[in-house]
Amino acid sequence: MNTEATPHCAALGFDKNRIQQTLSLLGLDAPHEKVAASSLLPEIIPERVDEIINSCFAIMVDSDSFELIEKDIGTEPFRQEWKYRLQSFGKNFTTPGYFEERLALAAAFAHANIPLGALQLPSFLIQQALIASLSDKSDLNAHKNRVLLNIILNLTALDLYLSAEGYRLPELYELEEKLDTLRAEASRLQQKAWTDELTGTMSYRKLMESLEHHIKRAVRRGHERSPLCLIMSDLDFFKKINDTYGHMIGDLVLRHLAARIKSATRDFDMIGRFGGEEFVVIMADTDLELAKVIAERIRLGVMKTPFHIKKFNIHITISLGVAMLKPGESGESLLERADAAMYEAKRRGRNCVVTTKEM
Ligand code: GH3
Ligand code: MG
Ligand code: MG
Repeated sequence: MNTEATPHCAALGFDKNRIQQTLSLLGLDAPHEKVAASSLLPEIIPERVDEIINSCFAIMVDSDSFELIEKDIGTEPFRQEWKYRLQSFGKNFTTPGYFEERLALAAAFAHANIPLGALQLPSFLIQQALIASLSDKSDLNAHKNRVLLNIILNLTALDLYLSAEGYRLPELYELEEKLDTLRAEASRLQQKAWTDELTGTMSYRKLMESLEHHIKRAVRRGHERSPLCLIMSDLDFFKKINDTYGHMIGDLVLRHLAARIKSATRDFDMIGRFGGEEFVVIMADTDLELAKVIAERIRLGVMKTPFHIKKFNIHITISLGVAMLKPGESGESLLERADAAMYEAKRRGRNCVVTTKEM
């Protein structure tokens, strides 16, 4: 089915199957219904089309909604629409095009806030007019009469059903818009929860999630094939930086530090802020030896060039502990061991890297 040409059908899920189901529910799926519908036009939809439409409109003019139709749809286009419908009553009612036309008109009505009844009234009026024409026809036998009556009732039911369905469309679009806004907002909030505001690295929460994820992956792939290492780092004498330059400069040091850690690590390493001036790096598919090399690179990257912030050149060093995940170990335990190695680095005079193996 070409959904381009039938956008309202597509939005409401009226594909080939659903059209078939709808017809079947209304008793319009049997082949003889199509035959009966096709004989409606020559048999009973009379030359008196204008007369029927005029009498329907005479009734509708008194309805409360007519003013709205006049204002938003225009009475003449509305009259033409119903004239066309009457002239083609029952024609191609099994096609997506038939469904689309009715859904589109209903959607336009709903959009203009015209009550659904204003759309259903002409359906009933035309149904009545057709039934009346049927009884005028003295040459129809009882069987044929019943068949035609039946198809008129069923097609009216289909029109009423499609009108009601079409009224759901603006609501659906509105809902979709609301959902889009909510999705965007949720994604923004999630991004916020996942990112440390000051440094742009992963937040503590995301860091923990990421660690769990990597541990599961390492277990799945086998520790031999997929070793997992973690660096715990802590700036040396950072309190002094705050005391000397102030907390705001201290904050900027942390921001610069995150950038230095980033440039010393690889694209797939995950950097997160564990606490105040403590950063963690998760390194997938990395053994202890390689992790130590990367930790050294971070240490040198911090020490080598002073942090140039505002008018100050701030010399700073960092201590790092490195641990590798053991089979069956939890993330918490891995963090604790890396932390212990980092404390050992502090104990050994700071500005150095210690792996758990070297303790
Ligand atoms: P050590 O070498 O033993 O690590 O000494 P230290 O002074 O760095 O001591 P410690 O790591 O225990 O203290 C960290 C200090 O970092 C404490 C606090 O004043 C400072 N700090 C923590 N979070 C922030 C932050 O977000 N911004 C700033 N400017 N300072 C922070
Ligand atoms: Mg600290
Ligand atoms: Mg410190």
